[in-house]
Amino acid sequence: MHRRPLHSPLRARLGLACLALALACACAGTPVFTPRLVSHSSPHAAGAAPLAASPLAAAIDARLAASESKLIAWRRHLHQHPELSNREVETARFVADRLREMGLELRTGVARHGVVAVIRGGKPGPVVALRADMDALPVTEEVDLPFKSTAQGTYEGRTVGVMHACGHDAHTAMLLAAADALVSVRAELSGSVVLIFQPAEEGVPRDEHPAGAELMVKEGVLDDPRVDVVFGLHVFAGRPTGQVGWRSGPVLAAADKFEIQVIGHQTHGSKPWSGIDPIVVASEIVGALQTIVSRTVDLTNEPAVVTVGQFESGVRNNIIPDRARLVGTIRTFDAAMREDVHARVQRIAENVAAAHGARVEVKLEPGYPVTANDAALTERMLPTLERVAPGDVVEVRKITGAEDFAYYASRVPGLFLFLGVTPPDRVATADSNHSPRFYVDESALPTGARLLAHLAADYLAGDTSLP
Ligand SMILES: [Zn+2]
Ligand SMILES: [Zn+2]
Repeated sequence: MHRRPLHSPLRARLGLACLALALACACAGTPVFTPRLVSHSSPHAAGAAPLAASPLAAAIDARLAASESKLIAWRRHLHQHPELSNREVETARFVADRLREMGLELRTGVARHGVVAVIRGGKPGPVVALRADMDALPVTEEVDLPFKSTAQGTYEGRTVGVMHACGHDAHTAMLLAAADALVSVRAELSGSVVLIFQPAEEGVPRDEHPAGAELMVKEGVLDDPRVDVVFGLHVFAGRPTGQVGWRSGPVLAAADKFEIQVIGHQTHGSKPWSGIDPIVVASEIVGALQTIVSRTVDLTNEPAVVTVGQFESGVRNNIIPDRARLVGTIRTFDAAMREDVHARVQRIAENVAAAHGARVEVKLEPGYPVTANDAALTERMLPTLERVAPGDVVEVRKITGAEDFAYYASRVPGLFLFLGVTPPDRVATADSNHSPRFYVDESALPTGARLLAHLAADYLAGDTSLP
């Protein structure tokens, strides 16, 4: 990871090679925890004059400042009670209870456990959606916190620990706090805010598809009222607490799964000539697949990744088996490249197998599409980011992780942002998202809540920079 000099806070670039959204990982390292709350510099402070807040923005900030302890308490409750994807029963109940306390009418049971509420402003105007995801991961928490998760769940038939190892507890709490602030100024809002609390971002078994954002969109969360733009954010480890990352255009990859069954012919390990060895054939396929990215994809256009993550075959040293199975992931940022890489995987598998007299069955399962931030919307909202996190806004590189926020952003213009949650002195050694040692510095959360509330209020106000 490296970082260029920051010539301009808005244009500063940042390396994010280690982000592992949607990728299970477990980095080594011993976290040191120094929970603390920072007070955010007032937007009225000296030096912030060009980005001064409107009275509306000031009222939102005042409400958020007053509810900061609630935000932290909500997050801790959610952290201690995580639920796996499509199992977010108590989480949804908690969210619905908080929204009802705010006086909001809501829909529950959307896309199984999703909760959707609408804040109707006092004046007419556009409709903004704010999205948070609520699910946790089959990870046993190793972080020593007073509110550490000891929850268990069932994943792929096994009993597992459950942990908010991707920070969706923080997302949910921040959106609740933003909602509370927006409700407090609803009379002044010109338009509506749709609050989307979605389940199952981390993925579900095949027989539960569609799910998460895809199903939320299918069940009409962007339709009534008709949403004009959607905002979301993701916390991540390895970036300093409170830093806000943005990128225009494609930012997170499409993530597709492939599975290749190589069918050879079983024989005794001492007589390979009397069979067709699927292990050798599958090995050649693994090698040949490497040429897709290294030799055939135009990497000056967009990056791409082809990874074989599973290679299974055989039971004994002297039996050549019938079959070998390869399973992998494809990451792309462009529809044409995505199609091209899929075709190449299929063709390489078929032809390498044919060269050896073996057969293949290739399955390509499309996963989350590319998450692309709308260029005009991104440009329009940059002053909001700078006002919320003055001097701490950076342009990020593309990230080869994936997010189902893509389903919203492919229907309406969207902007998906990143929030650093690692204390600055731990950035180099932070355990990544999905690690059992993933740690959220809670002092970043008020910034995230402010970001969501101000994105909505500024968009509705039609002016993102000045009163
Ligand atoms: Zn995740
Ligand atoms: Zn996540």
